[in-house]
Amino acid sequence: MGVHLRRALLPEGWASDVRLDFSEGLIASVATGQPPQDGDAREAVGVPGMANVHSHAFQRAMAGLAEQRGPSTDTFWTWRETMYRFALAMGPAETEAVAALLYAEMLEAGFTSVGEFHYLHHAPDGTPYHNIAELADRIVAAAATSGIGLTLLPVFYAHGNFGGAAPSAGQRRFLNDIPRFARLLDSSRLSVSFLPGARVGLAPHSLRAATEAELSDLIALAGDAPIHMHIAEQVREIDDSLAWCGERPVTWLLRRFPVGANWCLIHATHMTPDETIGLARTGAVAGLCPITEGNLGDGIFPARLFRNAGGAFGVGSDSNVQIGVAAELRQLEYAQRLSHRERNVVAESGGSTGRSLLDSAVAGGAQALGGQGGLRVGAPADLVTLDSNNPLYAHLSDDRLLDAWVFSAGNALVDGVWARGVKRVENGRHRDRPALAARFAAAMARLA
Ligand SMILES: [Zn+2]
Repeated sequence: MGVHLRRALLPEGWASDVRLDFSEGLIASVATGQPPQDGDAREAVGVPGMANVHSHAFQRAMAGLAEQRGPSTDTFWTWRETMYRFALAMGPAETEAVAALLYAEMLEAGFTSVGEFHYLHHAPDGTPYHNIAELADRIVAAAATSGIGLTLLPVFYAHGNFGGAAPSAGQRRFLNDIPRFARLLDSSRLSVSFLPGARVGLAPHSLRAATEAELSDLIALAGDAPIHMHIAEQVREIDDSLAWCGERPVTWLLRRFPVGANWCLIHATHMTPDETIGLARTGAVAGLCPITEGNLGDGIFPARLFRNAGGAFGVGSDSNVQIGVAAELRQLEYAQRLSHRERNVVAESGGSTGRSLLDSAVAGGAQALGGQGGLRVGAPADLVTLDSNNPLYAHLSDDRLLDAWVFSAGNALVDGVWARGVKRVENGRHRDRPALAARFAAAMARLA
């Protein structure tokens, strides 16, 4: 099938009268200066779909439940207690229902693939389900139902803090040793093999949750698949690392392990300038989650130095408190503006900030999920069209329209979304939204 676009953002820049042919979920051809052919979908403005590099799907069900101030100072760590209580309540059906609507919302926002950092593995009492990959299968089912591209990242979690400290009771559903994790990984790979284009990476949860020996084992299990890990999100995590080994987390990791292009370090918020430059030079992707990092009070990523050193980044919705491609990119830029007290910090000199953010996050996001991004032959047929009839923005085109999407309109400007060549979103709404929303509501009623 074909899609004809009056204007489209290709890897080499904006082009007119672009015809894309899709075949078996991939872009089979890209031609510019072409008239539409019979049967083509005719669209005005197309941009590449975005990879969402970091999601914990079940946390979508917590949105709005952790915004009340407690008797003492609220921090990431008090939020985490709420999250653990919530994690203990989710069963397989709830996990699938929440993830399916979440993934539909991601598609509505312009995210066409997701890296699911999946750590809810076992039954509420901590014993494995009969099918050790029961909850991973529910994530795969939710991806299949919604149509979003999936990179499943089963999470290895064995300890409660640096140095192999014992885990807490609230972490019991997350825990595996290496042999059981290897079985979970094998089962996950089998489950995902039935979903076209999907892949499996793996994720040591953090340096708090895996020892040095376990990290070595996990890297061997991963091969060249994506490896994702939370790192340096919170100041207390830096302090705990220094107290344990005398080194900061990013320094510790980069000195011991071959971090490279198949790695994605999530957050990496608190880095010294040397760590920032060191991480950029590895070729790994920084998985930034600006809305969640703001919501949790994590801190501000050193984006300017990282970018100047050639660092690659993608964006993720992490806690899923809000879903938006534009909103994540906007928050990333606004945090930099507030920090530096300047404007247009992330843009290349003389360029559009919206364009710069989008181009970088499309490329970095696809790399982090182990795939290709952009409207190019061989990449997944992931396309987002913007609403050119919105009266507020109809006078804008190309980079000005991207800037308006990122800094003004947000999700309201997303019109159609194709993932792997299938149109899932029309007029800004996922085609199966009513059924998915009803299933979500029933799940939330059971959790209440
Ligand atoms: Zn996370």
